[in-house]
Amino acid sequence: MNIVFIALGSNLNNPIYHVEKGIRDINHLLNTKVLKRSSLYKSKPIGPQNQRDYINAVIKIETLQEPIELLDSLQDIETQHHRRKTKRWGPRTLDLDILIFNELEFNHKRLTIPHPEMINRDFVLIPLYEVTNYNFMIPKYGKLLQYI
Ligand code: ATP
Ligand code: CA
Ligand code: CA
Repeated sequence: MNIVFIALGSNLNNPIYHVEKGIRDINHLLNTKVLKRSSLYKSKPIGPQNQRDYINAVIKIETLQEPIELLDSLQDIETQHHRRKTKRWGPRTLDLDILIFNELEFNHKRLTIPHPEMINRDFVLIPLYEVTNYNFMIPKYGKLLQYI
């Protein structure tokens, strides 16, 4: 079984609905179960500032899906939520990012794990700490994030 942490974010058309429904959608994926979820957090946008605040959360799942397979599944869910391609970091109904996948370091043109920006983003780290009960280390300047 793979243990994976996923970040959810939304700032369009009832963001709380999209994040909550996104969590349920992930729980319904094949061979996948949501083990733990964070609270909902509100954050200011990164990138373009002329957009609404975001609702963010992080979940911990177990899954038999492999990394690219899981990315495809998550992108299908984004599409079901009518996510549209807009400018970089523009408003979206649902964004699903794979943060950590076991202790894997993965570099592929479609997928980088751990997510390279997660350590710079409070709206990811704070809910991540919540779901890991703070049993989570970020070696200073280290690339690999470790969890217990
Ligand atoms: P950021 O990645 O800075 O949070 P974003 O989430 O707005 O930006 P998207 O437009 O959602 O970026 O995704 C662009 C591409 O990033 C996706 O098509 C996907 O192939 C790729 N990607 C690379 N690593 C990951 C990852 N760990 N989780 C999800 N997508 C990833
Ligand atoms: Ca993102
Ligand atoms: Ca994304």
